[in-house]
Amino acid sequence: MSWNVIGHDWAVKQLQTAIVHSRIGHAYLITGPAQVGRTTLALALAQAVNCTDQYLNNRPCGVCRSCKLIASGRHPDIYLVAPQVSARGRSTLKIDQIRQLQKDLTLAAIEGRHKVAILRHFDTANPSAANAFLKTLEEPPPNVILILTASEADAMLPTINSRCRTFNLRPVSTQLIHQTLENKGTLSPDQAQQIAHLANGRIGWALQAAADPEIWQAHAAHLTQLQEILGQNRVGRFAIAEKLAKKPEQLHGRLQTWSTWWRDLTMLAWGDLPTEKLINIAHYDTLNRLVAAVPQEKLLESLKQTDQAVWQLNRNANVRLVLECLFLSYPKVK
Ligand SMILES: [Zn+2]
Repeated sequence: MSWNVIGHDWAVKQLQTAIVHSRIGHAYLITGPAQVGRTTLALALAQAVNCTDQYLNNRPCGVCRSCKLIASGRHPDIYLVAPQVSARGRSTLKIDQIRQLQKDLTLAAIEGRHKVAILRHFDTANPSAANAFLKTLEEPPPNVILILTASEADAMLPTINSRCRTFNLRPVSTQLIHQTLENKGTLSPDQAQQIAHLANGRIGWALQAAADPEIWQAHAAHLTQLQEILGQNRVGRFAIAEKLAKKPEQLHGRLQTWSTWWRDLTMLAWGDLPTEKLINIAHYDTLNRLVAAVPQEKLLESLKQTDQAVWQLNRNANVRLVLECLFLSYPKVK
């Protein structure tokens, strides 16, 4: 058996039981934070339902032709549909994509027993796309399994939710991520620890960052820029807002990083945060210095404003204006 999923043991166990008893549903919704392993679990399920190993409890075996084709992204009956990203960095699952998938799913399977459609980030589907998909959920073609992923079940149409079996994946523990990175043996102990904390439960992010130093170096660069902003007066802050507003597609990652910074500070300011829970553990001393220098209400306010900015940008607000307001809300720190 080779589910190849790190963490989420309970979900694997339930799906495993369903495979053994041939009680596979026709629609699943896998929710949880980004990069926590939703698509990985979906692909493992796609492998399990198409695996040719003679023993049901050994599926997915990871070595049969079908398992290998799915692992390499070349199985003709597995459809992976992801939202399209606009120039502004906004992701949307569109009705054209749903219609194309619906056409594809009416054709008989070529290779496997089941056609499996994995619709990633279904919470980005616009209403017309979600409604079009509802028809497929209500009357799925035979031998088709639909798997949706999303951040939260609540963000979806109830009519979609109610037709799916839901698996809500929780963040993977820092300890398990740390151990996984150490077992890979490609990082120094310090790096493994830092990345495990930065991952904040996102095992997918940790594995990517372990393979590509640019990913976690970008995190460090975002923090450096935040320190620069905090040191500036109003004029300096507006100049940085203007510069950043020219590349809106890069803002999401930047704001997410800043949010982790304020979150660490807020939690430190409000009490004894076990270091296990700190995201920016590499900056432990700086964090403590700021906690001593900035009133705790101001730290909480900065966290709220940062998350608010993410929310506004996701709704097509004026980028420069959002950044200017955000930067004005940040404390001045020398
Ligand atoms: Zn197999």
